[in-house]
Amino acid sequence: MKPLDFRSDTVTKPTPAMRRAMAEAEVGDDIYGEDSTVRRLEERVAELLGLEAALFVPSGTQANQIAIGLHCRSGDEVLAEAGSHIFHYESGGVSGLWGVQPAPLPGERGLLVPEQVTAAVRKDFISPCSRLLSLENTHNRGGGKVWPLERFRAVVAAGREAGLAIHLDGARLFNAAVASGVPASSWASLTDTTAVCFSKGLGAPVGSAIAGSAAHIREARRLRKRLGGAMRQSGIIAAGALHALEHHLERLAEDHAHARRLAEGLAELPGVTVDPSQVETNMVAADFPLPAGEMVARLEALGILAGPSGAGPRSVRLVTHLDVSAEDVDEALVRIRRSLAG
Ligand SMILES: *Cc1c(COP(=O)(O)O)cnc(C)c1O
Repeated sequence: MKPLDFRSDTVTKPTPAMRRAMAEAEVGDDIYGEDSTVRRLEERVAELLGLEAALFVPSGTQANQIAIGLHCRSGDEVLAEAGSHIFHYESGGVSGLWGVQPAPLPGERGLLVPEQVTAAVRKDFISPCSRLLSLENTHNRGGGKVWPLERFRAVVAAGREAGLAIHLDGARLFNAAVASGVPASSWASLTDTTAVCFSKGLGAPVGSAIAGSAAHIREARRLRKRLGGAMRQSGIIAAGALHALEHHLERLAEDHAHARRLAEGLAELPGVTVDPSQVETNMVAADFPLPAGEMVARLEALGILAGPSGAGPRSVRLVTHLDVSAEDVDEALVRIRRSLAG
């Protein structure tokens, strides 16, 4: 039975062409600024995001943490949606690394409204100083939700009005761009810093970037060193990321079509609740007739890997990616149908 891995879009393996590009990459010591492949990647990212400069970093977590370090001082607070990656999955880095306090705001599938940002900002002298607003597009725990550009603009404007810096966690910003037809730069150019991941839907094995003004990126370079993220001949991995930007951007539309097809198939199964119209990118959250943990175990017995979505006690998340084909989706539906019938 072929294993079908729907846990995350991070599980992809580099394609033969990507491995070739990596093997043949021109490299140098990047701490001396001598890795031309890294430099090309950084220039390409800055251009795609409509920002002045970019910095290659090992992970999206490090890109986000550098943003916290750039914009905040110890004792400040960062406003973000309660389910955001920086609050949920970064091992307390916001507080542990920078002495910054999380100010979680309730969202609607990860999206905020301007009024709640305005109301949450604290600038008095007895509270922590609100310093940064961090937004996430697409929103991971929001099920791959895309920020509509006008709503994003309004929330950013509310943050700016209140004197906040703006960071965008764009781990899946290119999914948002391909799904909506809005260029990634339309969101990113409204921010002070934007982070993107190459190791998610784009299918590179390692790497993320943070982009912003030249001054911010100069400082980001110092913070990357401090966090142990400065690398040497990192052109080897940057070449995978560059290859992904060249060859795997447009194909994200296939992942989105596969996710929609999966949701539509699941919606027809007895006892499964899912609204395919809510599937905007590469994530499906479906309610099954048994607790998520049990359903995940049952799927695993069928050779299908998935995880709980966190959206509810029976909600299971399935993510499509480079290594999941339309046939894999159909095969998964056949197996799930059989198991629910049996
Ligand atoms: C994956 C992810 C990151 C970064 O993850 P790393 O595993 O550290 O690269 C950041 N934000 C979001 C929304 C993510 O999904």
